[in-house]
Amino acid sequence: MQGVAGMRVYPPAYLRAVRDLCTRHDVLLILDEVFTGYGRTGPMWASERAEVVPDLFCLAKGFTGGVLPMAATVTSKKVQAAFEGGRGRAFLYGHSFCGNPLGAAVAREVLAVYRDERVLEGIGERARRIREAFEAIAEDPVSGRIVREVRAIGAIGAAELRDTDGGGYVAHVGWRVYEEAMRRGAYLRPLGDVVYVTPPLNVPLDELDRLLAIVQDSVRAVAASS
Ligand SMILES: *Cc1c(COP(=O)(O)O)cnc(C)c1O
Repeated sequence: MQGVAGMRVYPPAYLRAVRDLCTRHDVLLILDEVFTGYGRTGPMWASERAEVVPDLFCLAKGFTGGVLPMAATVTSKKVQAAFEGGRGRAFLYGHSFCGNPLGAAVAREVLAVYRDERVLEGIGERARRIREAFEAIAEDPVSGRIVREVRAIGAIGAAELRDTDGGGYVAHVGWRVYEEAMRRGAYLRPLGDVVYVTPPLNVPLDELDRLLAIVQDSVRAVAASS
């Protein structure tokens, strides 16, 4: 899932083919799971869905539940070994907030919450409701008129809409849905012609249903006035 590049989904077979090509040509495969990690697509890591293991792996967002700055780049032992064995090989890079103790403490607490509140187990039900709501947007005779495609994977639902401006990241249709949703009490982030939701993974089910109903009503309102 590409995140803000339009919530586009990679077919697992594509990712496996990329992995095979990288392995064959000894090229490092970097998977950015800043957005998709920590269960966003269902399993802890989206790459698990494709059964692909990268050489480098980027983490942030869900790492601290988004409440404190914290990110990590995880590598295979082979990549790490390239920096071991003396000063001349050291990884000479640091950044302002490296090893922040508060961030690290919260990152540990997030893992405890995932374990104690069984966050991953709750994603299936939320994913089902999100998928059904977005499919309903495509199937509805009114809102369906402006839907190109809906995509749902894990706790992500997205509707790519038709736009008379030509679509893409700067399209206006998403803003119109955003305004309709604001009036109804939900704050969406428009991505041009893509309207999407990525609620907290432990969002109470009644709040999720309210959000999804607002998205449906808002797309329908825009379609009715188009
Ligand atoms: C948010 C996001 C980033 C940015 O992460 P930072 O930790 O803020 O640099 C990178 N990749 C993806 C896929 C994201 O969604």
